[in-house]
Amino acid sequence: MAEKIQSIRGMNDILPDESPAWQFIEEKLRQLMQSYDYDEIRFPVVEKTALFKRSIGEVTDIVEKEMYTFEDRNGDSLSLRPEGTAACVRAGIQNGILVNQQQRLWYLGPMFRHERPQKGRYRQFHQLGVEVFGLEGPDIDAELICMTARLWAMLGLSDSVTLQLNSLGTPVSREAYRSILSDYLQANKELLDEDSLRRLQTNPLRILDSKNPAMQDMIEQAPRLMDHLEEESRAHFSRLCAYLDSVGIAYEINTRLVRGLDYYSKTVFEWVTDKLGAQGTICAGGRYDALVKQLGGRDTRAVGFAMGLERLISLLEPAQLEKHLKHPHAVMLMMGERAQNSGLALTEQLRNDIADVRILNVCGGGSFKSQMKRADKSQAEIALILGDDELDNDVVTVKYLRADRDTDKPQQEQLSQAQVIELLNKLINI
Ligand code: ATP
Ligand code: MG
Repeated sequence: MAEKIQSIRGMNDILPDESPAWQFIEEKLRQLMQSYDYDEIRFPVVEKTALFKRSIGEVTDIVEKEMYTFEDRNGDSLSLRPEGTAACVRAGIQNGILVNQQQRLWYLGPMFRHERPQKGRYRQFHQLGVEVFGLEGPDIDAELICMTARLWAMLGLSDSVTLQLNSLGTPVSREAYRSILSDYLQANKELLDEDSLRRLQTNPLRILDSKNPAMQDMIEQAPRLMDHLEEESRAHFSRLCAYLDSVGIAYEINTRLVRGLDYYSKTVFEWVTDKLGAQGTICAGGRYDALVKQLGGRDTRAVGFAMGLERLISLLEPAQLEKHLKHPHAVMLMMGERAQNSGLALTEQLRNDIADVRILNVCGGGSFKSQMKRADKSQAEIALILGDDELDNDVVTVKYLRADRDTDKPQQEQLSQAQVIELLNKLINI
């Protein structure tokens, strides 16, 4: 036998028994976006490497260690997108949809990061991303948080997640804080790990994002950016808090929340859970007022978030997902050659006549017993059986396959085509 070729570590297949859960979530997300009147945008999964370097930041985990970067045949450096915001901004600028406009956009698709694969952390994973352009007040930040809270409620997850909130201020206030933080870190140099020592010069704020347990105490004691915000950011933040209070969304202010990407300013937030071990963040976002300009566009305010769908799905109860496993309404058995010809035409006709019907044809012929076995496996509600007898009498035999059916009712009967249509319409609406 030829050697089997395996998939790439951390890049998963979504198998037929898993895809209904994905379809369920995707459907809910589409409904959610619709209810806030947001528009979908789609952009490529590959972009020029420079786009991510300039936006996410050279000195970040993503750009330093996690990108899938390669040279294409022209010698250009390209990268698989590690996240969507940079590409969304690029698309917005390039297509002229940001200047003097407001845009409320969403996208859903795969992202790629070369991380150590483990539960909740993969090399190809999926995000819902939402980005809003052209609005600077905290009301839109609040809307995004409301939107995510609504999703948790829709999915019965409200008790499983908590909201953490912080403000990173404007680049100006951050610059002032940066030197205060640098002094503190310099004084605690002996506690810094290798990554952090390097970042001390290039990007000291990133050190606050370190997950190294040995450094947590030192980080805890560090001066807080929140205490060094200028008036504008402080006001923006307190109005956001007031909005959240007014809609009854609870939050925890976490002054250590800095996020792993450089482009944020003012609001940052994360929805976290303690149900997924170390991979506890299911949704994260914030304001990135400087990014559009930084990527060559006109100065445009912006705010957004991204949600990891693998983590979201793993929070759902299996029972909740099972409900959405779809089985056929009817399975068609055709006995003999005549029936095979008419049966194919009949099922095509039924699909014409009944919107949303799901009919499985047992292809491949075989004895009644073997066809019935396959029919049972399909978990269909009913079997439609067509043989010479039925054809001669212009009827279809209907066999009720569900064991939970009322025992007083016949388990099998012969119906006309019109009656079959009526029956299927009833089944669809259950
Ligand atoms: P983490 O701290 O868990 O590494 P992050 O800060 O790198 O997350 P973001 O870049 O903000 O994550 O991405 C937003 C969301 O995307 C995360 O909250 C998470 O749900 C999901 N996510 C990020 N990286 C992965 C991954 N490698 N595998 C699965 N989901 C991921
Ligand atoms: Mg990460």
